[in-house]
Amino acid sequence: MSVKVGVLAFQGDVSEHIEAFRKAGADPFPLKKAEDLDRIDALSLPGGESTTISRFLKEGKFYEIIPQKYSEGMAIFATCAGMILLSKEVIENSVESMGLINIKVKRNAYGRQRDSFEESIFLEFDNKPFTAIFIRAPRIVEVGNGVSVISKFNEEPVLVQSGKILAASFHPELTDDLRIHRYFLKMVEKR
Ligand code: GLN
Repeated sequence: MSVKVGVLAFQGDVSEHIEAFRKAGADPFPLKKAEDLDRIDALSLPGGESTTISRFLKEGKFYEIIPQKYSEGMAIFATCAGMILLSKEVIENSVESMGLINIKVKRNAYGRQRDSFEESIFLEFDNKPFTAIFIRAPRIVEVGNGVSVISKFNEEPVLVQSGKILAASFHPELTDDLRIHRYFLKMVEKR
C-alpha cells in the first residue's frame, strides 16, 4: 500500500509537494483539518510564510495535535517555513514553534542580495549533486543531540533528520529531482 501523506494546505507550495509525492509513488492529499491527521502515515509542512501558517495552525489546534501524533509514530517532512515551525528555538522568537526537532533557526537569514538562490549540494545518502533552491531561507544555526546532518551548504546544515522528522531549509519540491521525497518515504516505511 502506498504511503498516505497529508500536505498541510493553508498556504505555500502545496501543489508542488503533492505532485512530487505522487510521482514518488505515495498517496498525497491536501490536509486542512486536524482530524485528518488520524488517517495519514506522514505529514508534509511546506514552505511559505511561517507567521501566516502559524496563525492557521493555532486556529485549527494543530499545535497540540501534531506533537501528539508525532509521538505516536507519524513522520513529518518539513521544508523552509515548515522547518521553522518544528524547530526547538526560533531566534528572536518571531514565530511560535513546536520544538519537535532539536535545532535553532534564524529566519530569512541568508542576507538580502541572496533572497533566492540555487546551489549544488551533496546528500549523505547519494553521490550525485542535488540542486537546492533557497527562498528567503531560514538558517540552521545550531544542531543539538539526536539530529543528523544529511546535507550542508557552506559548511552549514541545510538538510537534517531526527527520528521520523526530515527538515530542509531549501525547496526540494521545486525541482524535478525526487530523491529527497523518496528518501523521506523510505523513512516512513521503516516502522
Ligand atoms: N521566510 C519565510 C519565513 O520566515 C520562509 C520562506 C520559505 O518558506 N520559502 O517563514
